[in-house]
Amino acid sequence: MAAQKTIVIGGGAIGLSVAYHLGKLGLEDVILLERNRLTSGTSWHAAGICGPLRSSYNLTVLARYGVELFAELEAETGQATGYRQTGGMWLGQHPARLIEFRRMQALGDMHGLHAALLTPGEARERFPMLDPKGLEGALWVDEDGQVNPVDLCMAYAKGARMAGVEIREQSGISGLERQGSRITAVTLDSGERIGSDRVINCAGLWAGLIGGLAEAVVPLRAVEHMYLVTEPVDGLPDPCPVLRDLDSGIYIKGDAGKLVLGQFERNARLWDPRKRDPGDDFLEFPDDWDHAEPMLSAGMARVPEFERLGITRFMNGPESFTPDTRQLMGRIAGFDNFYIAAGFNSIGIMSSAGVGKAMADWVSDGEPPMDLWDVDVQRMLPGDGDGRFLAERIPESVHNQFAMHWPFKQYQTGRNRQRSAWHDLLADRGAVFGAPTGWERPLWFARDPEERAFQYSHEAQHWWPAARRESQLLMQSGALFDLSPFTKIEVGGAKAGEALQRLCSNRIDVPPGRMVYTLMLNDRGGIEADATVTRISQDTCRIITGAAGRIRDLDRLRRLLPSGVSIIDRTDEEAVLGVMGPNSGALLKDVLDTAGAIDGLGFAWSCDATVQRDPVRIARISYVGESGFELYLPMDRSTRVLEYLLSKAAHHEIGLAGHFCLDSCRLEKGFVHWGHDIGPDDDPVSAGLMFAVRLDGGFDFIGREAVRRLAASTSPSRRTLLEVHASSPLLLHDEPIFRDGERVGRTTSGGLGFRTGKALCMGYVSGPSDTGADWEIEVAGETYAATPLAEPPYDPRGRRMKA
Ligand SMILES: Cc1cc2nc3c(=O)[nH]c(=O)nc-3n(C[C@H](O)[C@H](O)[C@H](O)COP(=O)(O)OP(=O)(O)OC[C@H]3O[C@@H](n4cnc5c(N)ncnc54)[C@H](O)[C@@H]3O)c2cc1C
Repeated sequence: MAAQKTIVIGGGAIGLSVAYHLGKLGLEDVILLERNRLTSGTSWHAAGICGPLRSSYNLTVLARYGVELFAELEAETGQATGYRQTGGMWLGQHPARLIEFRRMQALGDMHGLHAALLTPGEARERFPMLDPKGLEGALWVDEDGQVNPVDLCMAYAKGARMAGVEIREQSGISGLERQGSRITAVTLDSGERIGSDRVINCAGLWAGLIGGLAEAVVPLRAVEHMYLVTEPVDGLPDPCPVLRDLDSGIYIKGDAGKLVLGQFERNARLWDPRKRDPGDDFLEFPDDWDHAEPMLSAGMARVPEFERLGITRFMNGPESFTPDTRQLMGRIAGFDNFYIAAGFNSIGIMSSAGVGKAMADWVSDGEPPMDLWDVDVQRMLPGDGDGRFLAERIPESVHNQFAMHWPFKQYQTGRNRQRSAWHDLLADRGAVFGAPTGWERPLWFARDPEERAFQYSHEAQHWWPAARRESQLLMQSGALFDLSPFTKIEVGGAKAGEALQRLCSNRIDVPPGRMVYTLMLNDRGGIEADATVTRISQDTCRIITGAAGRIRDLDRLRRLLPSGVSIIDRTDEEAVLGVMGPNSGALLKDVLDTAGAIDGLGFAWSCDATVQRDPVRIARISYVGESGFELYLPMDRSTRVLEYLLSKAAHHEIGLAGHFCLDSCRLEKGFVHWGHDIGPDDDPVSAGLMFAVRLDGGFDFIGREAVRRLAASTSPSRRTLLEVHASSPLLLHDEPIFRDGERVGRTTSGGLGFRTGKALCMGYVSGPSDTGADWEIEVAGETYAATPLAEPPYDPRGRRMKA
């Protein structure tokens, strides 16, 4: 069989690393096309700082690989990379930073990195020019270092060529030929046409322009990004550690006896690549001393030596940032063979090794080698590529690179893009909104202005009393939830049910109206989605999944369902109201035109009804573990329905509740959350979800054989729910779990259960979950005793939910 032609667009650190790793995989017919000269985009500007400790477990896996590869690459290719492990420090000026550092330190430990907390005095011992004034402490990481970006790129290029990759400079792409969901050829500025089987867009800040050639939206924007280089400095430590003074938004590193000072400012200036001639390479912007002044002042305050040193170089170049300060990787939605790795938020050099390896695996296998949901381009939602949104959000993204990573932090900019029809109504009733997935959703309902204001903390959350109040009300009588952000997909056609069954682990061949909780697996048995599928009719199914996975879930259905099956995204046109709690049935009977419509409606069944002649689909189901219903109704008519329900709700002592109450309740029920507790690296056996898998149901589905094998073997780890014996630790995720002093796992989610009064967390644990052992959870450096729970602490038999 002829080799498949793989085209990599862009000869910066990312494209070159992707090409190198494709070559190492042994792929033939790989060609990298660079418009100008290699490194001439952003990569040559970089300060070259490398820090393997990142904000999440999987991103640290990617970055950590660089520590190994940068050193090896030089030996392999004979091309120096300038890589040096110098150690580095994260400096904190607020007590809350130290809590963040302790969490990072625990993450580092899990990856075998050597991270230690330092006092301000100890920080100064490591870097004697440092003025520790105002510092609360520092986090030292042994494995921090630096690399020479251009040399690293040349080493990738050499390694790629050695593995047979063709690299062509002065070969700009000006067109992409698209046939349906495939890019079949690229055209060069010269008019040359090259047929393609796979294309990877590694064009850095120009990736949006490349995407545009095939009508693919790429949510990133470029900004001016700058640093200063001093004249040589007497007495600079060698090696010189990297300093990141997070709360001042600056970084400092040594460079051949000089100091380099850079920033992640609040007011980054956008730059539009269309304003420049594409032939301009190694482009630089003019010095801008006004813009650099705050950085210089902060630098002088932290390292007073800057006051005496002359500046020999003002480096001002473009770099692209994304709306959530995480890169865009993977297959672009709507395409089968068009991939992207771009938008690196000023960490593209240090990320290049891991990203190149992961992308090469992804492209050659068609699936990511590990759970890369954090950075998957398909996490981006409709509208994220909107120019006005990006212009508002990107400066905040730049600042966020160093700003405090508060738990439950919400963006300030680019808000109110997706609102349910009930937004204003709920706002009038005290809703405090957050938009973790683009949609504005009530997080809690405030009683007074004091409760309404966000107050971020790494300790007790100021919204806990509100969420507790809502949970109590829910348990005693009931609460209404705006669930409109749910992803709602309709699959239809004569063969729809049969075709969808191939993707679902549970039997969906059920009578109309029946709802089925099912998993959608990959070939390895990993969980690509969990969904509730409702059989509407013989040839129509409705799929409900979480809000964040909307594009990904739609794209997976597009790729895997046959062409005769229609897939319609109903998310924007339908509102969803959760009517939950013991009095929910009575309230519904009060408002339904035909009170008897829900008589005898069993758990996991749905029916059609009307409220004041407006159509409503009622589903008897609950994510909070109470007797309850989800009402699906047309968005444009939903306000009158909610108003009517609210007018009757007080008679039934039913109030409003937000997302934080919902999340606490689902944890008390041990219900999982895709993207946190389950994902493509978790299988139903280890996740304890075999109740949603029919291995011997007489139908085949993707992942069945893999699950059969997994079920017959011993799982290396199992999802476990634990009670933490402390009144109010802030349980989030990625906290280490210990059994008899040995680290045996990490948490995936956690929080307070307001109905049970218990602190709870979920995580994967290797070995037995025996209650006889001593269990502990480490949260920001503190350890708390814990007990694995054999069953969820709230209504374990589901009696309330099914009452
Ligand atoms: C001042 C500054 C300091 C930085 N410091 C650091 C640091 O310390 N550590 C770190 O990790 N990162 C740092 N970065 C970020 C890092 O430089 C980038 O994240 C990284 O270089 C991005 O690499 P890339 O390959 O995605 O993009 P690029 O290097 O821009 O490569 C993209 C390539 O695509 C080519 N291209 C564009 N259009 C076409 C076309 N139509 N046809 C063919 N080719 C095309 C371009 O010419 C370009 O060469 C810094 C960046 C700046 C500006």
